[in-house]
Amino acid sequence: MSVIMRIPSNPLALIGPATLLVFAASFAVVWVRDRRHQHLLFLGAACLLFCAGTLSQLLAVPDGDGVNAVTSALIYTVSVLLLSDGLLRRSGARLSWVAYLIVPALIVSGIAYFYYIDRRLIVRIYLLNFSYGLILLTTAWRLRQLRTGRLSEQILFWVLMVFSLHFFPRTVLTVGATAPAAGAFGSSPFWLALQFSLAVSGVALALAVLAVTVGDTIETLRHERSTDHLTGLSNRLGFEEAADRVLRDARAWPVCLVVADIDRFKSINDMFGHPAGDAVLRAFAKLLKETSRKIDLCGRLGGEEFAVLLPNCDMAGSYAFADRLRSLVRQTRFAALPQARYVTASFGLVGANRGESLSSLVARADKALYQAKRSGRNRVAINSESLAMPAPASTSP
Ligand code: GH3
Ligand code: MG
Ligand code: MG
Repeated sequence: MSVIMRIPSNPLALIGPATLLVFAASFAVVWVRDRRHQHLLFLGAACLLFCAGTLSQLLAVPDGDGVNAVTSALIYTVSVLLLSDGLLRRSGARLSWVAYLIVPALIVSGIAYFYYIDRRLIVRIYLLNFSYGLILLTTAWRLRQLRTGRLSEQILFWVLMVFSLHFFPRTVLTVGATAPAAGAFGSSPFWLALQFSLAVSGVALALAVLAVTVGDTIETLRHERSTDHLTGLSNRLGFEEAADRVLRDARAWPVCLVVADIDRFKSINDMFGHPAGDAVLRAFAKLLKETSRKIDLCGRLGGEEFAVLLPNCDMAGSYAFADRLRSLVRQTRFAALPQARYVTASFGLVGANRGESLSSLVARADKALYQAKRSGRNRVAINSESLAMPAPASTSP
């Protein structure tokens, strides 16, 4: 078969493929900057393939209506599957490889059948458009949790819905209005209308994906800025920001703060090495997370000092929590340390006064912690000031 390139009668038709190339390049550039956004590769590949499919029809490569119909259908179908997979991957899901095999096989055989055996262009148009609409609607259904996500995620969901749904009425309306002649398909009103509506909704979808990607990047940076890499808990900054919000929330009262400091941690480093010390810190953080409730805020304030803010928890409950944790730490065998070596921690507990700042709360909890250390370690000390009422304002000059 010879490869003949037909020059498109209307050069404006090349705007679509060019736009797709720009989006493919944008997705690739963002991916190169941050390889964790693996889904962007799929979306970039989807744009690239859709561009290839459009060019294949526009330039009549490969030449010959039948082979061109089958080839472009295959390219478009894989492109739609990549789009669906990319969107799913962004949300931690994916398209199964079975879909990659079965869907193109079914669609391509349908197209071949309705070209070579029972030549019916209308059926081919329905087959392609309804299949794509269904694939994308299924994707939107699987991503329905985006409706309650960030604003950019909600926009992405609804744009995807419109993009999926537009495959149905568009086909019916355009085919109903003008039954295209097979020969002049590339310049038929149907094909141009198809290109236009695809271009508008496709550009909207690509822009929505880019907006969500910007949001994802901001979210990642925000998370990294407030997370401790060693333990995965909030770092001091993250803890302070979250704790400030809790302290300002009247529904969170009563609120208590527990600070914990591993005893003689320096000796662990000195005797077993820094990596063993790191492993103990990670295991300690894990215990902290497992012992606390979902609503409690856990953070690593620095070095081997940790904090837990307990909303809706009084002193008795917070004391029980801290003492349970203390006992658990003492009983735990740390994998990075020899069997006989145990670890203890000391704890300082305070109850927040109304209107008290986090820094004052931490300072008072630190005092209690210091008390626990001085009294022999491996214990929980309460800052008695936490129970006192704020001193009345002095009236003397
Ligand atoms: P105390 O019972 O009084 O708390 O004694 P301590 O040895 O635990 O306290 P000290 O403040 O003397 O030592 C804390 C040590 O923690 C010193 C520092 O090298 C170590 N440390 C701080 N951050 C890390 C870390 O990220 N990894 C490891 N392995 N060690 C750390
Ligand atoms: Mg210590
Ligand atoms: Mg310390």
